[in-house]
Amino acid sequence: MIGIGHAIRHKQAHVRKISRSQRLECQLDLLIEITNAVHGDHFTPIGECPKCRHTPAPIVIMRGFLDNSYDTTTVCPNCGDRFQAYLIARGDFSSTRVQFWCPQQVLHWLGQEKRSDRTPDELMVENISVVRSALLHFGTLENAFRKIGNIYVHQIDDWKAKVQPFLGRASDRVIGECVGVTEHVIRTWRRKLRITGYSKQNEAIRIGG
Ligand SMILES: [Zn+2]
Repeated sequence: MIGIGHAIRHKQAHVRKISRSQRLECQLDLLIEITNAVHGDHFTPIGECPKCRHTPAPIVIMRGFLDNSYDTTTVCPNCGDRFQAYLIARGDFSSTRVQFWCPQQVLHWLGQEKRSDRTPDELMVENISVVRSALLHFGTLENAFRKIGNIYVHQIDDWKAKVQPFLGRASDRVIGECVGVTEHVIRTWRRKLRITGYSKQNEAIRIGG
């Protein structure tokens, strides 16, 4: 039986997930690029419907998740079948594929067995699917743990060098979320470097041209 407390938390997580995914609609490709640059790999969401062979875009995969702690499937927009999506990192000689979990299940897993006491590397060894999924959904493990009321502080080494190429290309808030600092910190730093901030108008001009 689901308690009232759980139901409320569940609803809040749902609301937050929607607002973040809406914000990311036009920046998801960049977000994936930033996450990979920060964590030194090349993961991208991928999925193929086993029934009709449709391959939904990453944003469609993310929209198709259920808010269910025990179900990591997404939905095929073509035929309505549910299936497991993956995060795949293609290398020159081999590729790594891990399950892409929904935000709700990521938070459920992180919230068990005092996992906030472990280092990012320990969590990665224990469940790489959760860690990689968490980074795409929440930016950092710190943000993910905060959603479930846990304080988790593990600074990302050398984060400025990793995200500097993205200043002005992505919003200050998205960049900040990927490295666990506030939008204000990114904005101040970007202005010091005299880089124009990201705006949807700039993006439209670039796409139009
Ligand atoms: Zn299908």
